[in-house]
Amino acid sequence: MKYFPIFYDLTDQPVLIVGGGEVALRKLALLERTGARIRVVAPVIVAAILERAQRGSLQVAQREFIPEDLDTARLVIVATSRRAVNRWIAKLADSRGIPTNVVDDREASRFIVPAIIDRDPVLVAVSTAGTSPVLARRLRERLEAFIPGRFGELALWLHQLRKGALERLRDSAERRQFFQTLIDGPAARRLIEGDRHGAERIARQLLAVTSNSAPARGEVTLVGAGPGDPELLTLKALRALQDADVILYDRLVGPAVLDMGRRDAARICVGKAADGPSTPQERINELLIKHARAGQRVVRLKGGDPFIFGRGGEELEALAQAGIAFSVVPGITAAAGSAAYAGIPLTHRDHAHSVSFVTGHADKNGKEPNWAALAQGGQTVVFYMGLARLQHISAQLMAHGAPGTRPAALVVQATTPEQRVLSATLATLPAMAAAAGLASPALLLVGEVVALHAQLGWFAPGADAALEVHRSA
Ligand code: SAH
Repeated sequence: MKYFPIFYDLTDQPVLIVGGGEVALRKLALLERTGARIRVVAPVIVAAILERAQRGSLQVAQREFIPEDLDTARLVIVATSRRAVNRWIAKLADSRGIPTNVVDDREASRFIVPAIIDRDPVLVAVSTAGTSPVLARRLRERLEAFIPGRFGELALWLHQLRKGALERLRDSAERRQFFQTLIDGPAARRLIEGDRHGAERIARQLLAVTSNSAPARGEVTLVGAGPGDPELLTLKALRALQDADVILYDRLVGPAVLDMGRRDAARICVGKAADGPSTPQERINELLIKHARAGQRVVRLKGGDPFIFGRGGEELEALAQAGIAFSVVPGITAAAGSAAYAGIPLTHRDHAHSVSFVTGHADKNGKEPNWAALAQGGQTVVFYMGLARLQHISAQLMAHGAPGTRPAALVVQATTPEQRVLSATLATLPAMAAAAGLASPALLLVGEVVALHAQLGWFAPGADAALEVHRSA
């Protein structure tokens, strides 16, 4: 992150604008809204600025800039028509530690001015750090369309309700719930549509109901985080993450997904660190119970789907025994994510009438899967956690009658920018994988449908992936 986003209170603060043309006027118009004490210095100043000076809303000095102009300034905008002069002034201001922006000259600027969506007091700022002004503009347009015009009014209204809520609702979780219900429900909708009375009536009712209800009880939501791409979270998963007091997450859950959580939620990693041991299952169960008993909203966040090789069942059993309330939000499991992003339909009327999800790990007691069944044709078999035993799996399938020519693929880090697809056959895949030196997580898919990847593979985030698609074609 090159630029640190801040919102700067300029009320009554001296701001210097060097330059008196149209560009300066545009910046001035924006700055005026902050209540800053603005001074404009330039030998030539356009009429619109001079008129403002006459009205007394700003000061002007009709002359060339001199270094002393910087003496009291808290912020400087440089907008003369001469680039070299701009840079000289910026350097001078910067050496004095005054934040400075040179209009349309990012390199000479200490700060840049973002594109904004103004719903005062709600302000959304957009910056691409100067990489693409067009992209920033597009994003701004979308947000403009997306954020209702009365959004600022809504914020002020919610602020007014705070006092009443503080008096009636003692518990901060209860207050949060109250405001969430207002914002997500018909009250906010009414306000945004202009029906303030209606909104107020609903708020009063809601406040009465909420303040009579029992104190908040802790609960656990078991949430599937999907295979990697944060966009594959469900809306419910997002809501749960934004509601959470505590998030217990696995190693498979990436930082982009974790970032979606409520900012001040505690985040606890209970997965395996790079070399350390994973937290024992009993300990995870204890932590879930402990936090829920303390009245917290706990999210147990797992890669993919919590009920597919995720030990979700074991954790819920422990919660049920402890009498803790829980719910489950399904996620997109790695098989579905890998299949979609590799262009490998898991079933197909011509090639596969069933699909099995199998663990590639040996069973707790060393028991092997039913290889004879898995070796049969006309189906797709997906192995989770199979990378380490790839050689063994392909050998067993072939020993039980699967032809060595049966298509098989590894999808590595599926749905992420690092996704790679290694598409080959049962006979050739192990050697190919060993040569490629793959990192986990990786999923093994076996069956005729795998051959469709050559034609249907569409997601090629890196040059590598494009190469794979090509090679397997
Ligand atoms: N509950 C998870 C699976 C956990 S088991 C789910 O539903 O997806 C862990 C295994 O899942 C890994 O060994 C790997 O085989 C697979 N896996 C998880 N995420 C993956 C990804 N992004 N790409 C490929 N395989 C993945």
